[in-house]
Amino acid sequence: MPELPEVETVRRYLEPRIKGQSVLALHIYRSKNFEGDVGKYQGLVGKKIEGLDRHGKFLVFLFEGENVLLSHLRMEGKWFLISKDEPVAKHDICRFVLSGNQDLVYNDTRKFGFLALRDKANYVNEAPISALGKEPWAMEGKELYALLQKKKTKPVKEAIMDQTLMAGLGNIYADEVLFASLVNPRTPSVEITEEQAEKIVLESRRILDLAIEYGGSTVHSYAFAQGEKGHMQTFLQVYGKEGGYCKRCGAPLRKITVGGRGTTYCPFCQKEPNRPLVYAVTGPIASGKSSVVQILIDKGYSAFSADQTVGKLYEGPAVASSLSKALGQNVADKNGQVDRKVLLSLMKDGVTKAKVEEVVHPLVYERFLSFLKSKRDGRVIIEIPLFAHSPYEDETDFLIYIGADEKTRERRLLDRNVDPKAYLELAKGYPAAYLRKKASLVLDGSKGLSELEKQIAECPYL
Ligand SMILES: [Zn+2]
Repeated sequence: MPELPEVETVRRYLEPRIKGQSVLALHIYRSKNFEGDVGKYQGLVGKKIEGLDRHGKFLVFLFEGENVLLSHLRMEGKWFLISKDEPVAKHDICRFVLSGNQDLVYNDTRKFGFLALRDKANYVNEAPISALGKEPWAMEGKELYALLQKKKTKPVKEAIMDQTLMAGLGNIYADEVLFASLVNPRTPSVEITEEQAEKIVLESRRILDLAIEYGGSTVHSYAFAQGEKGHMQTFLQVYGKEGGYCKRCGAPLRKITVGGRGTTYCPFCQKEPNRPLVYAVTGPIASGKSSVVQILIDKGYSAFSADQTVGKLYEGPAVASSLSKALGQNVADKNGQVDRKVLLSLMKDGVTKAKVEEVVHPLVYERFLSFLKSKRDGRVIIEIPLFAHSPYEDETDFLIYIGADEKTRERRLLDRNVDPKAYLELAKGYPAAYLRKKASLVLDGSKGLSELEKQIAECPYL
């Protein structure tokens, strides 16, 4: 998706090439991208193009007379200048036949682009332009601070991408700006200080300027015109760099989801105040996860165990009654606590198991969040079965993956007096490759406790 710098690059490229030319004809190939009746756009024919402006990510073609044409490129929209004899191409939306020796074409493979006619005298006061916030160049830190206060607990990354709050930052540059500002993308907006807001504004200006200077980043398939490509990509510090390391402190960068968007940050440079650093350990069954947890507890980490939390929840009468209600049968014992034997036997059925999880998982997660709140600082280690694609992934700053060879795991399972074959079979669906790839650190749990302690001691981030 083109961001503001790419749109500005398009503007700077096109304006000197189309300014002063007249529209000889307008061919519309796909009317759905145009707001309202397409007939009215023919009013542009015969008019001279006076200039090309930009508001946020809207391009504004200024025509002689009363009209402007707004264009939002959305996902994949592109404006091209092409020679007169070039035929209509696939995904062409419209073509302005110009008085010069080239025509202006709007092409959009994803077809989400938006074109609309507005009054030149009043378009800045009308939707959609009127809904846009100020751009960072027109905004002071104090203003952003006041706006963020109103966004309450919304993560700051989501807030600064809200174009009605501040126009200009999309997903790529929001990650870059927060990295440069040393602000954690998860931070609740209301907790951002005035100094941080000031820094965010200044870094937004600097980074957008830099991106415009380099002609946009051309991430994805976006090339701003006729194959001219930007070089910003090589200057990105965090966006698209998951699996890599922080250029400032050397720590493994982490990718999470914030407000539904992929977000890459450095957990150490961008440490969130009033929140502990969250470490998680994952790995296949019997690979040594609990040893890792124990070693870290000995180093002073606070541990959160999902299994223990479930145990505690089962002791409360409220959970027994919600479960009984959800399952349509009583699972409480005479003390009003969950009768675990009854529950376990019921959970052999997959549908029942899912119903139980639907009740229990949100409660465990709630407990986890209040556990984090109660800590405020320091380091936390969590061990969560079914970690992959759970909300815990996005709360984790540093993921430790521990693997062990199958023989070692089999031996450990035998030591636990369980049938290794059955357990290893059960663990087949475990997304080892996915988690290993996402991990900040991979440990080898095959070689015993002292070797594991050594590996952990060698990692500067543990
Ligand atoms: Zn760092």
